[in-house]
Amino acid sequence: MRKPVIAGNWKMYKTPRESLAFLQVFLPLIENHTRDEVVLFPTMSSLGYVLEAVEGSNVRAGAQTMHWLNEGPYTGQTSPTMLASIHCTHVLLGHSERRIYANETDDMVNWKLKAAIAHSLTPVVCVGETMDKRQSGLTEAVLRWQISCALNGVEREGSQAMIIAYEPIWAIGTGSTATPAQVEEAHKIIRREVAERLGEERAESTRIIYGGSVKPENTAKLMAQPNIDGALVGGASLDPETFCRIVKYA
Ligand code: 13P
Repeated sequence: MRKPVIAGNWKMYKTPRESLAFLQVFLPLIENHTRDEVVLFPTMSSLGYVLEAVEGSNVRAGAQTMHWLNEGPYTGQTSPTMLASIHCTHVLLGHSERRIYANETDDMVNWKLKAAIAHSLTPVVCVGETMDKRQSGLTEAVLRWQISCALNGVEREGSQAMIIAYEPIWAIGTGSTATPAQVEEAHKIIRREVAERLGEERAESTRIIYGGSVKPENTAKLMAQPNIDGALVGGASLDPETFCRIVKYA
């Protein structure tokens, strides 16, 4: 059985003070919730504070990006060693906003994935097509390409923690969620590609989560699909009560 993952990507929102105020409300609300793995991705400036505040709770925290090298003259970057040293457990890789605004390439996502695995960080590899590609019938080709690049040279051994997030770019921050059927189809394509690269067993155990305008109102319908193993929530993860309703989808 794949344990569902409900993750909140806070993008460039919340100061450390605001992050801690969120947790003060959120942690008691989900105190006894064990069904899902709950993960928050705050900004780098809040991450240390959030990690300290969630210690001993059922909530985990991760970084929104990282470099693939351990150290070097790379202004503005944070390394996997540095994340591991503050007991960060998860890291987002290749989010479409990083691909678009920070020119992250498929190769970089691949190097980062290998680095995350080497440092025992749980990678959340993001993939997804533009509306243009979907309308041209290229969704499958895009997803297979992104997954095969990300997994290039990745071994079955060590990849068990990897999570894949399907985030169609046209559904991010637009309010127009992909339908459960569209997501299910995309997740099946992704799982097949993982099977081709890493074998059936790894594909069956890999969590594939969906992101793109997830709200309390559409979570249960998405989660009812057999190949949807969780959600990566942007806007609706910023408010503790709203995010709690998503985590506790029934
Ligand atoms: P929204 O939930 O705001 O559409 O963002 C999705 C996302 O990009 C999560 O990583």
